[in-house]
Amino acid sequence: MTTRFDQGPWAAAGVQTVQAGVHRVPLPLPNDGLHAVNVYLLEDLTEDGGIVMIDGGWAIPEARKALEEALSAIDRDLGDISHILVTHIHRDHYTQAVELRRLLGSRVYLGAGERPGLEMLDRLRSDEPASSLETLRRAGAGELADRIRAMDHGGFDPGMWEAPDRWLAAETLRFGDRELRVVPTPGHTKGHVVFLDEQRGLLFSGTTSCRTSHRPSASNCPSRVAGRSPTT
Ligand SMILES: [Zn+2]
Repeated sequence: MTTRFDQGPWAAAGVQTVQAGVHRVPLPLPNDGLHAVNVYLLEDLTEDGGIVMIDGGWAIPEARKALEEALSAIDRDLGDISHILVTHIHRDHYTQAVELRRLLGSRVYLGAGERPGLEMLDRLRSDEPASSLETLRRAGAGELADRIRAMDHGGFDPGMWEAPDRWLAAETLRFGDRELRVVPTPGHTKGHVVFLDEQRGLLFSGTTSCRTSHRPSASNCPSRVAGRSPTT
């Protein structure tokens, strides 16, 4: 694949194999602020050969296409994705997970702390950042809040915001003799979680990355982070 984004090599389309059986795949986003979001494909966690995907990407055709091409590059396909573990509720991490579940029957997991946010979205039927706008107004930045409100937030599609199959607490997910620890890390969102693979020495950190948000996490700081006590 030759398509490249203009922000730097981390966002270049394709597959980066972090370790045997662990692949980082940057998926495109429809805006020009952040250029890509990383998802990870873990090939050898499940006993039946299903792929565990960490984070889903933004549900846009370009992201689906990039994912299909990445899977093809490692001789797999969409139908191999059995589980999608999502670090947080934001659109660029969650919505394609829901879409893939509809298409493939994959199981979607999300941190339990995201439940109130997801339920609020369902009540409001809007993905306008209402609480953030209110905070801006209280802080005297009403004009900025108005400008953000006037932006196109992509439209609310309830089909993108369906509940996960399972809400995650601080727990250990077991796949045969392999496991992933779920560590709640509230901050970027209330229910953000990270996934720690202690056997491999990898931390899948979503948007609590070692350097800059949405930059490679597992590939930036694998063994340094692995094994360290979680901070929350
Ligand atoms: Zn986010």
